[in-house]
Order: sequence, then structure tokens, then C-alpha cells
Amino acid sequence: MPVRDTIFALSSGRPPCAIAILRLSGPDAPAAARAITGRALPAPRQAALRPFRDPVSGELIDEGLVIWFPAASSITGEPLVELHCHGSLAVVRDLQASLATVPGLRAAEAGDFTRRAFANGRMDLASVEGLGDLLAAETALQRRAAMAMMGGALSRRIEGWTRDLRRLAAQVEARLDFSDEGDVADSLGLAPLVAECGRIADEIAGDLAKPSAERLKDGVRIAIGGPPNAGKSTLFNALVGRDAAIVSPQAGTTRDVIEASVAIGGIPMVIADSAGLRETGDVIERIGVDRAEALLGAADIILWLGDAQAQPETDGVLLQVTAKADLSQSAPATAGHVISALTGEGMEGLIAALREAASRLLPAAGDYALSQRQHGVLHRALASLHEAAMMDDEILLGECLRVALTALDELTGRATTEAMLDELFAGFCIGK
Ligand code: GDP
Repeated sequence: MPVRDTIFALSSGRPPCAIAILRLSGPDAPAAARAITGRALPAPRQAALRPFRDPVSGELIDEGLVIWFPAASSITGEPLVELHCHGSLAVVRDLQASLATVPGLRAAEAGDFTRRAFANGRMDLASVEGLGDLLAAETALQRRAAMAMMGGALSRRIEGWTRDLRRLAAQVEARLDFSDEGDVADSLGLAPLVAECGRIADEIAGDLAKPSAERLKDGVRIAIGGPPNAGKSTLFNALVGRDAAIVSPQAGTTRDVIEASVAIGGIPMVIADSAGLRETGDVIERIGVDRAEALLGAADIILWLGDAQAQPETDGVLLQVTAKADLSQSAPATAGHVISALTGEGMEGLIAALREAASRLLPAAGDYALSQRQHGVLHRALASLHEAAMMDDEILLGECLRVALTALDELTGRATTEAMLDELFAGFCIGK
């Protein structure tokens, strides 16, 4: 059903600020802008200075720029007007109140503008998700991956697979239609089609094997482990750059897990300090030790300040660290990074190693990263292509291709449910 009403919202940051931008999108946007400015719209995509008046009382609220984007050149695919005003609380509030009095206008809800862009075919779902990530990006790496997704890198890949699978599905159909007549070259049977399915499956599996967006969004999980008094909290504080953990010469001080989100060299990390691992009769300390063990088990990278022989088992990376280098007279027997978190000795090398290990868990620069949703959907497509690769029957092969195509359509948004869209767009801010 086409969208009929016209929405408006503050699309810039929260006032007070230097300039605020109110956006109007929908069929009545040009008329509303004329009502507010009392003048004709400027030429499309050109800024013009106009008075902003309340259309009922005629009171001058502010003066600012008006830009008009006709539907053909607007991001929402509808007539869109931007009013750039002074970013004071009063101007923004009064201008919004005036807009609300214009017939046919209503305040936008979260993600409304982007939802219209999607509904009008201006953006596919993968690009919408990229845009959401871009708005949430805090580090350069997050921004680059979001830009790749928003710019259509994943969409183009999906379009390629969709085209190939549709061609295969058409060939399967043709075999079904003409199989009785013996017109179709049949000497090879379904083998070439099945092989083609296998090729596409391999490409999808390759994408699924790449680092997903989870670590990029939430940070690579780093855990500092070792016995009490090894210097864990001091190292944690040195890495985090502030005195977040309590450092004390008394063993067993850090009884719980302390976490901090930091970006080191532009790489998002969650660094966790933990209770020292030791046998203890203290019930509370025991809980801390249990949590520390769980933390080390879940970490992507462990900085291990204990004995090399006592290294915990991990599926991730373990960097052996020998701390308090400033105290030792002779060369330490333990291998790994020799550091002093107090004097800074060896810290540069340790941080470089940490960055290197963490960057391998993140998407390559400029590559997109699949979200959890995209991962799940792509897995479904892969599973049905694996099934397809084992079929020797046209009807069953055709069905597998259909399921795979539907999954790919869910990624671009060609096949979606309202509930899914509601959830996705609710994550956006009002005015976007
Ligand atoms: P944790 O129990 O493993 O967290 O160890 P802490 O970080 O609390 O450190 C225990 C003691 O060792 C404290 O008195 C720290 O000041 C001291 N310490 C930690 N790192 C260093 C270091 O690099 N050099 C020196 N000289 N002392 C350190």
C-alpha cells in the first residue's frame, strides 16, 4: 500500500546546537514548506534563505535555509524538504509545533524516513542495515565496514548469486517441461546444474567463514589472566588508560571481573581484568576465581601473566606475558612478552601483538561484515544448496533452489515480513 501521509522530524543532533535540520517527506511536504515560508519553493536541490513563520498566527519563528528534493532525486523516493534553522530548543520546538498544525503532516517515528526509502526501492535491506551500522559506528573500522555494506558490496554479491540461481532454476524447469519430448540434451543429466550449485555454495561458505560483525560491534574480547599479584590489574589500567581496577599488593584484591571497552589502534576491544587464579578457601574469592575461569574460556585473546606451564586451554589466542620486568635483575626464564606496566617497558610490543591478533578476528579493511541475522539467513541458503548438490531429481532440485532463492531475497528485502521490518527500523533514531 503506498504511503500517503507526510512525516517530519528533527534529523540533526539534539538542541541546543548551531544549526538544526528538520526534514519533511511525503506528498504534502512542498505545500507545508510553502505554508511555513510563505513563498514558492526554491529550485530543486538549491538552498535559499527564507523566513519561517507559524502558518496560523503568522509569527516569525526564525530564518533559515530551505532545500527541496523532488521525489525523483530524494533519498526517500518522495517529495522531501529540509528546513535548516538555528538549533535552539525554542526554535526547533516551535517550528515542529507549527509543522504539526499543517494538514496531512505527522511527527515521524523511529526509522520512518529510511523505511520509506526501502519501501520506494531507494535502498535494499542490506544497505539499510549498513546505514544502521554507520550511525552506530564508533571506530574507523566499524565505519569502513558499515560503508561497504551501505554502499552495496553485499547486495551486489547477493544479486550475483540470485541471478545464477534463477538461471539454474529456469534450466531445471525447462528439463521438467520438455523431459517427455527428449528435446533437452540429457546425456550429462543434472550433473552440470548440481556442479554449479556447488560452486555457488562454496562462495557463500567463503563469505560465512569471514569474521562476522559481532566482534566489530561489541569489540574483541581480551582477558587478562594469571595468579594473584602477577600485575594483572596494573596491566589492565595501563591498557585502558585510567585507574579502573584496584591495584594493591595484597593478593586477591580483584575479586570480580572488571571490563572496559577501548579502541586500541582503532580496533574495538573489551578488556577484562579478573580475579587471580589460585586455590582459596574464601567463598567470595572462590566465586571470583570461577568467573575468571569462565572469562578466560570465553576470551578471544588471553594475556597470560602466569607460568607458561599453567596456561589455560583456549580456542583463541594466548599471549604469554612476563610482568614487572623492572624488578627482575636477570633475564626472565619465561618466554613471551617481557613488560613492565609501571615503567612502560615492552608495552609497545605487547600492544602491537594484541592489535595484530585482534585484527585477524575482524573484517579486512573495506570488507563488509555479516550481522547475526544475515549470517543465519545465508546459512539457510547454504544448507539448501548443499542439499541441492546431492539431488538427482529435477523436482527436488528445483525446490532446493527455490528455498535458497527465498533466503537470498530475505537478505535484500525482496521477501520480508512486517514484524522483521518493525524490529529492524525500531533500532533507528527518529529523524532517520
Ligand atoms: P594482580 O593481583 O595480578 O591484579 O596484581 P596488581 O596489578 O594488583 O599488582 C600487584 C602488585 O605488583 C602491586 O603492588 C603493583 O603495584 C605491583 N606491580 C604491578 N605491575 C608492576 C610493574 O610492572 N613493576 C613493579 N615494580 N610493580 C608492579
